[in-house]
Amino acid sequence: MPIDATQPYDDQNIFAKILRGEIPNRTVYEDEWALAFHDINPQAPEHVLVIPKGAYVCWDDFSANASDAEIAGFVRAVGHVARSMGLVEPGYRLLANTGFDAHQEVPHLHVHIFGGKPLGPMLVR
Ligand code: AMP
Repeated sequence: MPIDATQPYDDQNIFAKILRGEIPNRTVYEDEWALAFHDINPQAPEHVLVIPKGAYVCWDDFSANASDAEIAGFVRAVGHVARSMGLVEPGYRLLANTGFDAHQEVPHLHVHIFGGKPLGPMLVR
């Protein structure tokens, strides 16, 4: 079910539980600002999620309310993960679903990194 991205942060969401270590994940990278882990239902040969350590519902919440240090740390982490996965030369796609129309399902900001094959033109069906 898509979530309402305008609602307050719910600390019982599944990515909050992953950040607290209550649910396992296949970690790719972690630093002060971000955690990256394999998506449980991959949509491409390489499909990793990067989430900020802070409690932000979505891209809108994060871009409006996160500190400059959190934003810089998170954006650098996304770039670092893609680079460390060897995806820069072949290319990759970033996606941050926000709210109902984008079908955001987990109410903690996450950026999808897709790669590992030609992904074709962007689809907005
Ligand atoms: P979105 O539709 O952008 O909110 O995407 C949510 C993503 O989270 C989906 O691609 C799910 O497969 C993924 N997901 C849900 N639960 C887990 C989990 N426990 N570990 C890893 N990925 C998950």
